Amino acid sequence: MRHRSIVDIMSKLQESVARTNRALTKAVTNCGCVSIKASRQTVPSDLSSFQEVREHMSSHLEGNMCEQCAEVLESEIGATLFYLTALCNVMDMNLQDVLSNEYKRISTLGYFNLS
Ligand SMILES: [Zn+2]
Repeated sequence: MRHRSIVDIMSKLQESVARTNRALTKAVTNCGCVSIKASRQTVPSDLSSFQEVREHMSSHLEGNMCEQCAEVLESEIGATLFYLTALCNVMDMNLQDVLSNEYKRISTLGYFNLS
C-alpha cells in the first residue's frame, strides 16, 4: 500500500537504479575488488551463434567482487526489481510476460542489436 502511487514508484525505481550503479562504482573506486578496463568491442562479422559472439565480447570488468560489495550490489538489484514489479502491478502488467516478450524480440532482432 505504501508504494501505490505511481509517482512514488517512479522516483523509487529511479533511485534504486542509481544506487545499483553507485554500488558497482564503489566496488571499483572505494574497495578496488573489481576494475573496469573498457575499449571498443571487436567482433568478427562472420559469427552466427550467440556462443560465438559471446566468446568475442568483453564485459570490461576485471577481478572478482568481494563478498561485502556483492552483498550491497545484490541488495540494490533486489530493490530495483521490487520497484519494477510494483510499476508492473500498477500498470496491470506482468513482469514475467514483459521479460518473455523482450527475450523473443531480442531473439528475432539478433544478437548484434543489443547495443
Ligand atoms: Zn569489494
